[in-house]
Amino acid sequence: MNNRSSKKCSGSCHCGAVQFEITSDFEELTTCDCSICRLKNAVMVKVHESDFKLLTGEEQLTEYQFHTMTARHFFCNVCGIYTFHNKRVAPDSYGVNIFCLKEFDYEGIPVRQTVGAGME
Ligand SMILES: [Zn+2]
Repeated sequence: MNNRSSKKCSGSCHCGAVQFEITSDFEELTTCDCSICRLKNAVMVKVHESDFKLLTGEEQLTEYQFHTMTARHFFCNVCGIYTFHNKRVAPDSYGVNIFCLKEFDYEGIPVRQTVGAGME
């Protein structure tokens, strides 16, 4: 059923100030149509907080919150790239920008469009 095994991937923002590591089986990727994701045009993978590790860049990460102030969106304050966010519907999980992942081949992974706009 699931022929993808869990693997570790490192990622970073554009300038490299923010670096992190995630472990996921990459079963699916998601997009979101909420007001901020539309602007970011992000494709994300969801990982549990125990599978997410921030390596460097805590000082460069800027946190942005809006609306219910539950979701926490992070971006690098040097290069401005969205790296990951802490999800509102699942506070113990992170949505990670897959384009920040190094050497990550996302071909063939289904992309599910999630509806965030309705939650606003
Ligand atoms: Zn950066």
